[in-house]
Amino acid sequence: MLTLHPTKKSAEQTQLITKHSLHESLLHFRILLAEDNEINQKLVLRLLEKKGYRVTVANNGQEALSIWEKDPVDLILMDVQMPKMDGLETTMAIRKKEEKTGKHVPIIAMTAHAMQEDKGKCFEAGMNEYLTKPISPKELIDIIESKINE
Ligand code: MN
Repeated sequence: MLTLHPTKKSAEQTQLITKHSLHESLLHFRILLAEDNEINQKLVLRLLEKKGYRVTVANNGQEALSIWEKDPVDLILMDVQMPKMDGLETTMAIRKKEEKTGKHVPIIAMTAHAMQEDKGKCFEAGMNEYLTKPISPKELIDIIESKINE
């Protein structure tokens, strides 16, 4: 983040810089999208890129875990049903590894199962939020923006 020195600048200048730094932080916000379904993958990717986010795509949980280990991101969108490692297993593995670092990446679950039981499973695994498919573009962007501002 940019450090502001409001005493040295006019209100107008400060406002411009604030807008600029917000935009900058948005552009530097990196998202890992873990989704095995090609159609959903493209749909979510397009929405995020339109907003200017930097997105890395993983085709399954195993890929997501190895990408996250090499290059930590600011937020993970995690499909629950995936081959090799599902979203729950992947989240648990990430949370386990985070015990050593003290970090906590926000993980948003994406699943077609809107049942209360499934929601509970996501939270138990260590996910922070829950999106039901089909993904609503507004809900998706709202959740991400709430995490940027946290
Ligand atoms: Mn899936």
